[in-house]
Amino acid sequence: GIAEMAVTQTEALATLHKVFGYEAFRGEQEAVIEHVVAGGDAVVLMPTGGGKSLCYQIPALVRPGTGVVVSPLIALMQDQVDALRALGVRAGFINSTQDFDERRVVEAEFLAGELDLLYLAPERLRVEATLDLLSRGRISVFAIDEAHCVSQWGHDFRPDYLALSLLGERWPDVPRIALTATATRATHQEITQRLNMPAARHFVASFDRPNIQYRIVPKADPKKQLLSFLREEHAGDAGIVYCLSRNSVDKTAEFLSRNGIEAVPYHAGLDAGTRAAHQSRFLREEGLVVVATIAFGMGIDKPDVRFVAHLDLPKSVEGYYQETGRAGRDGLPSTAWMAYGLNDVIQQRKLIQSGEGDEAFRRRAQAHLDAMLALCETAECRRGQLLAYFGQEPHPGGCGNCDTCLTPPETWDGTVAAQKVLSTVVRLQRERGQKFGAVQIVDILLGRRTGKVIQFDHDRLSVFGIGEELTEAEWRGVIRQLLAQGLLAVEGEYGTLVLTEASGTVLRRERQVPLRKEPEKPVTAKSPASP
Ligand code: ADP
Ligand code: ZN
Repeated sequence: GIAEMAVTQTEALATLHKVFGYEAFRGEQEAVIEHVVAGGDAVVLMPTGGGKSLCYQIPALVRPGTGVVVSPLIALMQDQVDALRALGVRAGFINSTQDFDERRVVEAEFLAGELDLLYLAPERLRVEATLDLLSRGRISVFAIDEAHCVSQWGHDFRPDYLALSLLGERWPDVPRIALTATATRATHQEITQRLNMPAARHFVASFDRPNIQYRIVPKADPKKQLLSFLREEHAGDAGIVYCLSRNSVDKTAEFLSRNGIEAVPYHAGLDAGTRAAHQSRFLREEGLVVVATIAFGMGIDKPDVRFVAHLDLPKSVEGYYQETGRAGRDGLPSTAWMAYGLNDVIQQRKLIQSGEGDEAFRRRAQAHLDAMLALCETAECRRGQLLAYFGQEPHPGGCGNCDTCLTPPETWDGTVAAQKVLSTVVRLQRERGQKFGAVQIVDILLGRRTGKVIQFDHDRLSVFGIGEELTEAEWRGVIRQLLAQGLLAVEGEYGTLVLTEASGTVLRRERQVPLRKEPEKPVTAKSPASP
């Protein structure tokens, strides 16, 4: 079999052709594989979709013995193993979803040397019986996937990962490869330390996707904005449109179809048959648009996706990077386009507050959202921000292929405008028990005598009508940016706007508030309440 052949570099290439059917290695793959096949330890940092799996699968096939893969993603193991078996690779897994008999079969295969790859959940390796099993078989390589889970400061910390440092002590002759997509430089060092891999070679792939143009526009009438974007720049192209809710997925797909763009919905609420049909159409056809929740895209490898559009704000920069990263795998020019507005910020902040999870969880979710908002509101190169987020060097002087580089946004001194908003919030906060959101604040600033303004006597406030120099859209932009800068906060299920500790510094004129001008004249929204 493959495992008995001589260990050479061409053998790795032959395995790539024969087993996986690919032409050539990508990026760092070849160097990583060569190093691990020769018995060296490696720490691999590669973006999602970069091709990490082959970095351990090929060494596992080329070296004698079984490659043991530690992965926290139990839900994916069955699929991974099925996919490998379909290629003729002898793969198995041991995790908590199995019954006793199923596990016994896999264990026997491993001991008989009949497995090329064995997937394990990390908690398995804390059990002496598992370690004992492993020591009775022959292991070719240990792969530690999602290695950032070992970092106590990261958001995915798994205590079970700390136990993985013993692999090196117990199996000093078996090479180890740790892989991750989300490490900053600090996490990278932590991985090396905690997994006890001081001699490991480090392979750091670039996170830059130079052929993807990043653009984030202010949201006004998102479906219409999307339609003009598609008509003007991506007519007949295949692409993915992400929405947060199933309902908006259905509506957007319908809207596009009605307007002459072939589009199908994809979300967990559709039956499996429909989902599979839509997915295979997307892979097969040239110009289909899939409108989807984030459920779509995992494991999809379509090289000619020309655009990824977001109609709602992703929850984190990692999510945004991963989703936009599905565009342009073929290296040809592609667009990552997003419409983003005040309601996105309010909605996401509300979700975090009313959602499940403890205080620490909430704080992390908030930090993730803040990083995403910073990316949306930046007046600097978007690509630079993305690269910096992942701990990589930005392009000096900007990338030249994102909206802020192509048309640098103007900034203006928004201090007075900020003070007007904050003063209004202060006055509304004094009305105990009453909850007012952004709509009421804008109505008051613009001096509109709406039903709700009259009902609460808000036309008698000193701030009533003090903001007529800006339009409604501009005020919403100001509020959005104040939220993003932490100068305003959202409270409770109604999205009540409240002051933060930092708000005082603006009200006391201790600091300036630079704001960015909205780069695109927003299309006028039909209803003032729903931009
Ligand atoms: P990651 O684990 O880094 O997210 P994967 O290992 O799942 O990425 O690879 C992403 C996709 O790229 C997969 O569909 C995989 O089959 C494909 N792929 C990986 N390496 C190559 C290659 N050398 N040539 C062609 N396709 C590849
Ligand atoms: Zn740029």
